[in-house]
Amino acid sequence: MSTSHVTSTSPQAPNDVIAEAGALDPRAVAGLAARAREAQREWRATGAAGRCAALAGAARDLRDRRQEAVELIIREVGKPRGEAMGEVDRGIAILEYYAQAAFASTGDLLPASLGWLLYTERRPHGLAGLITPWNFPIAIPLWKSAPALVCGNAVLLKPSPDALGTAQFLEGLIARHVPDGLFAVAPGEAETGEAVVAESDVVSFTGSVAVGAHVTAQATGRGVPVQAEMGGQNAAIVLPDADPERTAAMIAGAAMGYAGQKCTATRRVIVVGENDAFVDALIERTGALAPGDPYADGVAVGPVISQAARDRVLEAVRRAEAGGGRTLTGGAAVDRDGWFVQPTLVDRVDPSDPIMQEETFGPLAAVCRAESLDAAIQIANGVRFGLVTSIHGRDLDQLLRAAAAVDTGMVKVNGPTAGVDFYAPFGGEKASSFGPREQGTAALGFYTSTHTISLAPHAG
Ligand code: NAD
Repeated sequence: MSTSHVTSTSPQAPNDVIAEAGALDPRAVAGLAARAREAQREWRATGAAGRCAALAGAARDLRDRRQEAVELIIREVGKPRGEAMGEVDRGIAILEYYAQAAFASTGDLLPASLGWLLYTERRPHGLAGLITPWNFPIAIPLWKSAPALVCGNAVLLKPSPDALGTAQFLEGLIARHVPDGLFAVAPGEAETGEAVVAESDVVSFTGSVAVGAHVTAQATGRGVPVQAEMGGQNAAIVLPDADPERTAAMIAGAAMGYAGQKCTATRRVIVVGENDAFVDALIERTGALAPGDPYADGVAVGPVISQAARDRVLEAVRRAEAGGGRTLTGGAAVDRDGWFVQPTLVDRVDPSDPIMQEETFGPLAAVCRAESLDAAIQIANGVRFGLVTSIHGRDLDQLLRAAAAVDTGMVKVNGPTAGVDFYAPFGGEKASSFGPREQGTAALGFYTSTHTISLAPHAG
């Protein structure tokens, strides 16, 4: 084990240390991987009923420990209570959903051109290396590890250091239902992550574009299947016939909820035509989302994850203002302990401005105007990301035209960009994603490889 340490602290109380561990060096990761492979042999031989029971048991335990998990998420990553409860409930649902997937078909029967049988069988890859960010510390590790496990794989989870405590909580929850060593957490940073990729037979990553590009290059270089879910620079297109109040409330929530720290948060608001009623309502709704104690009921915006994250938001605002942007609301840090920053809207920014082009992972959105729907679509598509777009209005022709023309992996019509059903395929286009989709049945395909078998009689 190396001498470097990872430490997780609370963003609302930076002196509060939640978890600490030595960062695992490549030798230590290789040791965990060897144990996991050993356990995987037993796990693979465990029947569908046994795998279902294990995941269902973990779901039951998470339900029993729901309150503890909620408090831990609030403390470790500053997620406001309402969203933390939603995330734990989603985690329970994911475990229950994939528990049942133990009984799903594991292949197809095809017409045999020769002999008796031609069939396919989906088999586990072996060891799944999962690398995760801090912003959904229960949901993301579970939406990767539950399908990986139910398909018969072992799991090595390399969580973000900022969510180490929640990852260790999950390890305790799952480990008691599966063979020893089958599910292991590898604390550490880049070196540990690279060692996990080096040991794994299948890799799933969620995080930033820069790290995702590195992970996919390393995994494809080794010839192992890899998927990466990365950033977004998501647009909300507001058509002239959208209800101003309702739409403004939805977009303010999607942009600023959990201090904008979701890959699916709205970062750009593209208003078709001059629509002062909507922009005024958006300013009011955003201003009303005052940052507060994430433990308190009714608070939607807590702190950002770190001092560096707070400084990035303030720096992006200053840059946009220097380029001619006008701050409509917010734009400053909040004078209290912890990394709080005001929800901020910047208007009149050029589509080429960095605030429009690059993800600032915080409570910050840019507003810009488009003369027509076509111009709005061009702006929406004019970024290197392609995760999700929302479109707001009433005219079905316009809505369908926009839904077909935006180039993101997900489209929400009259819904917020943030928030996706856990059983639907999840993923983006362009720089936002690499490889197959996550979630739902798509995940069962990713964590297995398909073998084709034909069978003919020995004679006659
Ligand atoms: P990050 O890219 O900094 O870190 C992600 C993970 O990669 C962490 O566990 C980190 O320790 C690890 N890592 C760092 N360097 C590595 C390397 N060289 N090799 C292997 N692993 C390495 O991201 P973050 O700050 O934790 O999370 C925020 C980012 O995640 C945002 O960009 C956000 O958009 C994105 N995100 C995307 C989705 C999605 O599904 N598209 C969901 C949530 C978050």
